[in-house]
Amino acid sequence: MSSRNKRRNRDREQEEVQVRKHIVLPDVEVKKVVEPRPVCSICGEPIEAIIEAITESDGSYSHFDCVINKLKEKYNVKEPDKVSYIGHGSFAVFTMDEEGKYVIREKIAYESNENYASMLKYVEDNRE
Ligand SMILES: [Zn+2]
Repeated sequence: MSSRNKRRNRDREQEEVQVRKHIVLPDVEVKKVVEPRPVCSICGEPIEAIIEAITESDGSYSHFDCVINKLKEKYNVKEPDKVSYIGHGSFAVFTMDEEGKYVIREKIAYESNENYASMLKYVEDNRE
């Protein structure tokens, strides 16, 4: 390779660097996703993952486990009966039948779709 060609190559390299500099955008400030952290209306501890929290009828939030415990007390659920989430904002008290299978004793509509939707909106609104 002649020295002339070398220089040409170097020029081209520098040109490329220039072009790349133009392409690279100035530092874009990466916004942190800030999850809202309300406190649990039952135990008063912060709720780490609001998406897993339960929305109360008054619009406050509770830990999933706290709601389970609260319902156990309210519905006087004793072993081996249990309270489980059955989806769509509802819980159910399960009781064991003679065959040892869990059957729903009582359904508890807890979280309205409206409340759930407003929770999602709340999460969205608090994201920047
Ligand atoms: Zn709690």
